Amino acid sequence: MPDQPVYLDHAATTPLRPAARAAMLPWLGERFGNPSGAHRVARAARQAIDEARDVVAEVVGCRPGDVVFTSGGTEADNLAVLGAHEARPGPVLCSAVEHEAVLRPVHAVGGRTVPVDRHGVVDLDALAALVRDAPPTLVSVMVANNETGALQPVDEVAEVVRRWAPEATVHADAVQATAWVPLPERLAGVDLVSISSHKVGGPQGVGALVVRPGTPLRPRALGGGQERELRSGTHDVAGIVGFAAALQEVLRERDATAARVRALRDRLADGLLARIPGAVETGPPREERLPGTLHLCVPGVESEALLFLLDEDGVCASAASACASGAQQASHVLAAMGVPAELARGALRLSLGWSSSAADVDRALASVPAAAARLREVAA
Ligand code: PLP
Repeated sequence: MPDQPVYLDHAATTPLRPAARAAMLPWLGERFGNPSGAHRVARAARQAIDEARDVVAEVVGCRPGDVVFTSGGTEADNLAVLGAHEARPGPVLCSAVEHEAVLRPVHAVGGRTVPVDRHGVVDLDALAALVRDAPPTLVSVMVANNETGALQPVDEVAEVVRRWAPEATVHADAVQATAWVPLPERLAGVDLVSISSHKVGGPQGVGALVVRPGTPLRPRALGGGQERELRSGTHDVAGIVGFAAALQEVLRERDATAARVRALRDRLADGLLARIPGAVETGPPREERLPGTLHLCVPGVESEALLFLLDEDGVCASAASACASGAQQASHVLAAMGVPAELARGALRLSLGWSSSAADVDRALASVPAAAARLREVAA
């Protein structure tokens, strides 16, 4: 096994970008102030956070004052769903393929899910029927799915909701999409937007919820009243600074990285489909997916065993359905798409990102087919 693992799990988390690390270091050392204070050390920290807020605002397409920093995408999603529901109780809808960070709070408040088509894309007719049936106060649909990379028609979702439930709040989880697609043009009709630092080359444990003016929202964390009373707690200054530095890199090189990674992903996909008999690519056509995501189902192979062999060979991948304990469980995304359970058992997600190289693809093209063939041999 080579020393450096082949990292093909960018949808789980991304390596820290050097620019983010460099930007963070002073804030882990001599610049340690609490931004809520009044003296110069505190003021320096507050200024750093305000500058980071400007960067988030540019990425999402909002006012700096709309940004609420959180401990990550999960907290942003929870604040969006539970905070909006508490501010205005009523029927809640989300797509059936949302991340658990949306799905579970939606279920907790008795919400319902909107079906998706076989590509994993929200069924707009089904959405319209559900909205007409019981006009919701909140609808949540992700910009791109974390398992398949499928892009969702968030603008059309917002349009349907506005037609039948003009007062409803619309939330979009943009955690997976931020590194790849310009958000302002996709999210114009959306009231709440979740983003996360560690999916864009920033540090783990930082994120933000964008709250457009006038959106009814109750806080979940009560305390010192930071973030316009919407999220109390002392800021993670270094994390927020690193998040902003990573986002600046995204703004600078997103299009170039997306084109480069898309070509790598397509070569990987074509190569694996040619080398693994019966393998199927999951999700919508490639151009309607995130450039870095490749999701396959390999018949006759168990994901867990495949991931084990790949890991032994130094290739880090995922089935995209691991729970926090690391154990595999059936994917609700594949189930919602109607993928037969038999096929879903052989799910494999290979996700590329800013640090991915042609050498990574070459290694995966050698390793994945060999591992699949070995498992099929054993099973035969
Ligand atoms: N939403 C989506 C779509 C995700 O993919 C993830 C992480 O995998 C999250 C939310 C949670 O974000 P975080 O890990 O920052 O809590």
